[in-house]
Amino acid sequence: MPQASAPPTSQIQVLVHTPAYSQMASALSYLSSEVPPPGTLVRVPLGQRELLGVVWDDSPAQAQQSTVEPAKLRPIAGVLTSLPPLSSHWRSLISFAASYYQRAKGEVALAALPPQLRDLSQVQLGRKLKKLAKIANQPTPATTGVAADTTAALQQAAVAAPHGVVLSAEQTVAIDQFRNHNGPFLLFGATGSGKTEVFMHCTAELLAASPQAQALVMVPEINLTPQLEERFKARFCSLYGMEAVVSMHSGMTPAQRLNSWLAAHSGAARIVLGTRMAVFASMPQLKLIIVDEEHDPSYKSGEGARYSARDLAIYRGHLEGAKVMLGSATPSLESWHHSRPAPEGGRYHRLEMPSRVGSGQLPLVRRVDMNHQPKACIISPPLLAAIAERIARGEQSMVFLNRRGYAPVLQCTDCDWKSECPHCSAYRVYHKIDRTLRCHHCGLSERVPRACPACGNPDIAPMGRGTERLEEHLAELLVQVHRPDGQPVRIVRIDADTTRLKGALESQLAQVHAGDVDVLVGTQMIAKGHDFRRITLVAAVNPDNALFSSDFRAPERLFSLLMQAAGRAGRDSAVAGSSEMWLQTFHPTHPLYESLKKHDYPTFAASQLKERQQAAMPPFSFQALVRSEARTQETAQGFLNAASQAAGEQNDTAALLAHLTRYPAVPMGIARIANIERAQMLIESPSRAALQKFLNAWQIVLHQTRALPECKGVLRWAIDVDPLNI
Ligand code: ADP
Ligand code: ZN
Ligand code: ZN
Repeated sequence: MPQASAPPTSQIQVLVHTPAYSQMASALSYLSSEVPPPGTLVRVPLGQRELLGVVWDDSPAQAQQSTVEPAKLRPIAGVLTSLPPLSSHWRSLISFAASYYQRAKGEVALAALPPQLRDLSQVQLGRKLKKLAKIANQPTPATTGVAADTTAALQQAAVAAPHGVVLSAEQTVAIDQFRNHNGPFLLFGATGSGKTEVFMHCTAELLAASPQAQALVMVPEINLTPQLEERFKARFCSLYGMEAVVSMHSGMTPAQRLNSWLAAHSGAARIVLGTRMAVFASMPQLKLIIVDEEHDPSYKSGEGARYSARDLAIYRGHLEGAKVMLGSATPSLESWHHSRPAPEGGRYHRLEMPSRVGSGQLPLVRRVDMNHQPKACIISPPLLAAIAERIARGEQSMVFLNRRGYAPVLQCTDCDWKSECPHCSAYRVYHKIDRTLRCHHCGLSERVPRACPACGNPDIAPMGRGTERLEEHLAELLVQVHRPDGQPVRIVRIDADTTRLKGALESQLAQVHAGDVDVLVGTQMIAKGHDFRRITLVAAVNPDNALFSSDFRAPERLFSLLMQAAGRAGRDSAVAGSSEMWLQTFHPTHPLYESLKKHDYPTFAASQLKERQQAAMPPFSFQALVRSEARTQETAQGFLNAASQAAGEQNDTAALLAHLTRYPAVPMGIARIANIERAQMLIESPSRAALQKFLNAWQIVLHQTRALPECKGVLRWAIDVDPLNI
């Protein structure tokens, strides 16, 4: 058909993030004198504001204002011409994530871009990019002045472990497998088996094989694993320059985030080290994604698009043809199940490294039967003796308890009064250090009353214990014990309270590493990741709670936490032989502890998977939660139940109902926070596809239901696909 005379300006579709448009909003239409390729970053007007946007290849019909007359469309405000467009792979990743997690593409796309991009002038941007281009094209420091025929030698240097570290047999096998298969891989390696060394080796190989290749290395929480960052920087900055390794996490300033993002997008950064948000980093030459501690719940986002960065890493690897390696000593049951033998349906390639590097042994697990200990004792006599013994030998111990503060509740000894939060369905925690009662949910903090607010009794007492009280208690118990140099015992507590100030965690950790601490007390925060060399005793004071939790994932989390914690002991092979993990428990013969004693994750996982299969729970079924918030439970639940009922009455959702189970709306575990009532509804299906199809169709119904007069009181609602906490 002959072209009609060209319109003065063309229509383009642009993704923006604006809460003014509903969750379903797709691209918006704008006018532009040229048609920039999809993925181009632009500035567009919206109302009185100017927003950053991404040109999208939706058809005009898919766009939000398809009904708006072309004459009413507004022109874009500018094009970020100096930036290469975002790749089609990146755009596919965004589209997939938005659709799978039931959010707007604009929200997902713009959350993945540094907000500062909008405020940068073309000149500033151009200058930054020029600098990065110079880095990217610079011969790496190591190659400067080296003849071309030594490239092979350089590649050798790149992949060889530094300081003549000889790979263990298990490491060699794992790396060979990685080289010869496409993956995805699950590196199942004991704590201290040398997984990080394998990650670095595989990264080195891929980077050496192609001068542009990029690797994405993800960690759960970067400030808990500073050593990983140091090790990667030490290894790769010397090869590829200081700018070759960049970080990406939420603790960075906007300017730092912008610089890292530009380095990754321009190709100057060869390695991006980041937390879950980094899964969306624009990396045009991505060849490898590593997900360290893949079981960690912090890979799942708890707000906005509730994505799992681990699951998206697998998808992204598939999309881009990049290899993906997940690593853990206690894999998530999902990943473990996916890595079962291929004939049984496994899709991941499992790589096993059961032994600690060198002669390092795993610590001996000892259970203290609390049924046979003095009543109400917190630290049992045998555990206390073992800690004292460590102190006398100049070794360190780590004692952890999963509760911060002094005591979880204050209680009147006369009447029923307890330190409830007036705004939440939870108790306020007693913090002795500043004599406050603090709500850990809404943040309400008040001075401890002098007397019971209900009856005036001056005798109000702390019930139970948190880390603050444990620290105090240990100091009392150990007052007679002395270090080898005759000095008193040094106890340090590390938890969210002691690390609030910037740099506090780092300095406390440095104290531990320097040997200036004998006993380290803390929450699970200290049980993860840290490479403490001098700790020979790790103790879990009261781990039993999780055994009987209503959350079906609680045992999995407990096992993993305890294995991680045990892994903190005896990392130095000189002391590994004498290192121990102590558990104080009323259920010493519980199968979870039996498996833990043998360091036997596979047996534990097999029994958990069997239970999950019998109960048709993930990974044998797929779940989604819809949560809603309102001033009353009635409103919050009413909305969910009404939307559920409506799903049965509308054709496109009703047709799918046979493939899923809808549960009635219930209050959430903590039903009220800051005077907002919270309810949830669980949807389950044996088929992921059916669940996805249903959610896509149901979203519209949920929006319609929310608009009904009787649902006016609903403040917010959101879908959580593959939820971790039910
Ligand atoms: P993981 O990540 O599995 O806990 P790491 O990679 O941190 O284990 O290794 C544990 C310790 O062993 C580290 O100090 C590391 O430098 C060292 N290590 C790793 N591989 C080797 C090896 N092949 N030879 C000697 N030491 C090694
Ligand atoms: Zn009272
Ligand atoms: Zn509260």
